[in-house]
Amino acid sequence: MELYSGHINRLIEELANLPGIGTKSAQRMAFYLINLPQERVERFAHTVLEAREKVQHCKQCCTLTDQELCPVCANDRRDHATIMVVENPRDLAAYEKTGRYEGVYHVLHGAISPMLGIGPGDIKLKELMARLQGDVSEVIIATNSSLEGETTAMYISKLIKPAGVRVTRIASGVPVGGDLEYIDEVTLLRALEGRTEL
Ligand code: ZN
Repeated sequence: MELYSGHINRLIEELANLPGIGTKSAQRMAFYLINLPQERVERFAHTVLEAREKVQHCKQCCTLTDQELCPVCANDRRDHATIMVVENPRDLAAYEKTGRYEGVYHVLHGAISPMLGIGPGDIKLKELMARLQGDVSEVIIATNSSLEGETTAMYISKLIKPAGVRVTRIASGVPVGGDLEYIDEVTLLRALEGRTEL
């Protein structure tokens, strides 16, 4: 027996597809949305659509932004010769929150994972290599300390080194398998300061 109407079931299904949302949360959210005034639902739907339409990849670092260049890349006072490579925009935000990193970033949008069938061509590596044609003195690899993050770090290091660019890896101290975004600022800074040559 269907417990809810078809429309409600579809809404619950869509919400349950979101990361970190189980069926129970999806049900709560669905009933909350259904009970909202019409204009609130319209505003919500519009915000989602508009974000999807307007947000693009920064031309330089590939993070998500409303502009051609993100605020970090557009800032002349940043050190554009130092590039920190991170897996996703959330990691970038974690380092920005420390307020102590003066270089720029490169967002890979993922990590190499042979198990999941994600290869070097599936992340923003080509874009990183293109940036190395310019004036770059150091690439800091700040991928997660998971198996995928380490695999990606080794791969990038092998790829970049022949170009004669200094390649470093943030210190471990970042818990194994830990997502960078959940790590406190002191630990992040310590990992950055304790980085080692690859
Ligand atoms: Zn950027």
